[in-house]
Amino acid sequence: MPEVEKTLALLKPDSVRAGKAQEIMQLIELNGFTIIAKQKLQLTRARAEEFYGEHYGKEFFPKLVNFMTSGPIWALVLAKPGAILAWRALMGPTNVFKARAEQPKCLRALYGTDGTQNATHGSDSPASAAREIKFYFPHLVPDPVSDPAAAADY
Ligand code: ADP
Ligand code: MG
Repeated sequence: MPEVEKTLALLKPDSVRAGKAQEIMQLIELNGFTIIAKQKLQLTRARAEEFYGEHYGKEFFPKLVNFMTSGPIWALVLAKPGAILAWRALMGPTNVFKARAEQPKCLRALYGTDGTQNATHGSDSPASAAREIKFYFPHLVPDPVSDPAAAADY
């Protein structure tokens, strides 16, 4: 069994606007994740640009920031053995059209809208999970014994 990990999930403005947040949270728990923290908020442009800093300068960046600031989102900290990869797998491919074609039961196929508006976000590595959890939940200090990598990053 892989070790228990934490990852950062977002329910993006399209899925929240569609009234699907509670349904997605139920699916998250049915898939064996524990939601250990949650918060509904709306990103400012500056915060959205900071969160997606790795994509600064890319062609889709302005559209992504417009979308992510267009309405409320939910930020969630999920825990489970192997949570980072497991959550990416449950979300499915980044592109909703690809998701619908290849993995019709994944969350992005079920709840996403188009190439930019894809319902959910998930951290892609232990380092980004640590950064992204701290970004939304700065008071959640990682435990240096069970989570030394995150604590070192903190
Ligand atoms: P993921 O969210 O699967 O980790 P990326 O980190 O590559 O994907 O991209 C961040 C977000 O930017 C995506 O979830 C999506 O909302 C948007 N995005 C990525 N690539 C494109 C693209 N080619 N065109 C439009 N939007 C995109
Ligand atoms: Mg990403």
